[in-house]
Amino acid sequence: MSRVNVMQPWFGPEEIAAVSEVIASGWVAQGPRVAAFEAAFAEAMQVEHAVAASSCTTALHLALVVAGVRAGDDVVVPSFSFIATSNAPVYVGARPVFADVDPVTGNLTAATVEAVLTEATRAVIVVDQGGVPVDLDAIRAVTDPRGIVVIEDAACGAGSTYRGRPVGAGADVAAWSFHPRKIVTTGEGGMLTTPHAEWAERARRLREHAMSVSAAARHASVLAPPEEYLEVGYNYRMTDLQAAVGIVQLGRLPEVVARRRQIAATYAKQIAELPGLRAVADPDWGTSNFQSFWVEVGPEFPLDRDGLLAHLADGEISARRGIMATHRQPAYAGTPHAPLPVTEHLTDSTLILPVFHQMSESEQSRVIDALRSAGA
Ligand SMILES: *Cc1c(COP(=O)(O)O)cnc(C)c1O
Repeated sequence: MSRVNVMQPWFGPEEIAAVSEVIASGWVAQGPRVAAFEAAFAEAMQVEHAVAASSCTTALHLALVVAGVRAGDDVVVPSFSFIATSNAPVYVGARPVFADVDPVTGNLTAATVEAVLTEATRAVIVVDQGGVPVDLDAIRAVTDPRGIVVIEDAACGAGSTYRGRPVGAGADVAAWSFHPRKIVTTGEGGMLTTPHAEWAERARRLREHAMSVSAAARHASVLAPPEEYLEVGYNYRMTDLQAAVGIVQLGRLPEVVARRRQIAATYAKQIAELPGLRAVADPDWGTSNFQSFWVEVGPEFPLDRDGLLAHLADGEISARRGIMATHRQPAYAGTPHAPLPVTEHLTDSTLILPVFHQMSESEQSRVIDALRSAGA
């Protein structure tokens, strides 16, 4: 029996051709393809400015810097997220303050954010967890009057929508991931998007050592103009090799999302008939790309979450434990936080089922049959 993977990137000959062209061009570092990928991404996500980075994690770091978050500031984050969401504030000397999440969506809410605000709260990082759009307007109703910056960790969100627009478009700044576990991949890679021109310009400089003249611009002239380093920057650049792949992948996004939503709808229909299981679903305010199709295993189900994972593994089906709880990790041991009952419940009772573009009907049937036969 072949294994059903939880996720598989989808590439075609177009990506291979795009990379070959970059190599043949002789310019492989950040250059014209990165610029073209940024322009295409900004258009697709309906935002004014897009700045490519080496990962979502580094894009989040840049987002916090350009948003003016500094040592001594508090940044509200969900513990219920990949650990990078909490690490980013630490990089700028700020304190991540864990807020709980909604039991249905797994996202921050206006109430959970409001409950942990302090005098020092400078920003909140909202996450579109697993692709489920966060209710941004409700959170902004709490944060805007207090002058708190809203940063969106849209790592999982490419192709998800919020009130008819792509997610990320309503935040002060958003960060995206192109890791292979996400829907658009460049191997590794990230993007920062923002409506603020000055923030974009500074992020563009900071990712390249804060150099006053870009490497691409320097290369364009035989005698390069002298550069200056305006502040302490980073090397968070994407390469043209990655961007060439990203341009092709971005073109595939509508098709990929449509297929994922189809697979999710089939799962949802079948899971609705299994007492004790609850599947993630679109919220009232938007649509998910179903980057992670998670299922909550309730007490009525014959197996608990870990039992169900083991049962799936017996059938060569590779499912995953649900989203992590960052506050439980050794890296955050001793960090004071409010009670996080929903986070702990979801992280202990959810698992992520296989969804990928090339998934066949028979592979999905194997997963559904395995859910049905659990405990039998
Ligand atoms: C994957 C992920 C990240 C990290 O993305 P990288 O591109 O690997 O740095 C950050 N936040 C969330 C919510 C993620 O799912």
